[in-house]
Amino acid sequence: MNLEIHCASANPDKVREIEDLFREHLGDTVTLLPRPTEVPDVDENADTLIGNARLKAQAIVDATGKPAVADDTGLFVDALPGELGVRTARYASDRPEHANDPYGANRQKLLESLESQECLTPESRRARFVTVAVVMWPDGRELAVEGECRGTIALTERGEHGFGFDPLFMPDEFPDQTFAELGDDVKNCISHRARAFQELARKLRDVSTA
Ligand code: IMP
Repeated sequence: MNLEIHCASANPDKVREIEDLFREHLGDTVTLLPRPTEVPDVDENADTLIGNARLKAQAIVDATGKPAVADDTGLFVDALPGELGVRTARYASDRPEHANDPYGANRQKLLESLESQECLTPESRRARFVTVAVVMWPDGRELAVEGECRGTIALTERGEHGFGFDPLFMPDEFPDQTFAELGDDVKNCISHRARAFQELARKLRDVSTA
């Protein structure tokens, strides 16, 4: 059996990562189809990660009549409850510089917020990335999974790789290095997104071989 699933993301890095994981875990039983270009971007206005992932997947299912896979990620910082999470991408949208450099503005606001709360020790700068991934079918079935990566927010930005909060996030597996220093090969073995999609691929294997 070959299951065709549209990817709700058009981000080439994400698509490649999902493709690689699906190929590794599922061989040729699942084919990942690109996001249809005519489907407009979805307003991600749900108040949970799973809610946003469902909105993104449902829009593709409605447009194509085929299954779709979508994900949503948030950074949860212990000292700043309710501040990032599902709003991570828009965290610093109250600052003008967010319009031109959203990632940089978000990182700067995070550093300033932790400093203003005098969170200067590793214990006070604990955080976790969470990715929720969901496959939805036209008949209403869905598979949903979650992947997590725990770590600490660095005192200053370090490293050249990756995107978003990578220059600030030090995963527990490598507590002295940021994701941006570790690079994509290491990051993609331990990241929240990799863990979510590995689990999703395992669950899809059960479905596609049932
Ligand atoms: P998205 O749901 O994948 O678009 O992620 C939402 C926001 O979380 C992004 O805009 C980034 O700021 C941040 N983010 C998600 N994944 C990562 C990651 O792997 N590293 C660093 N930041 C990330």
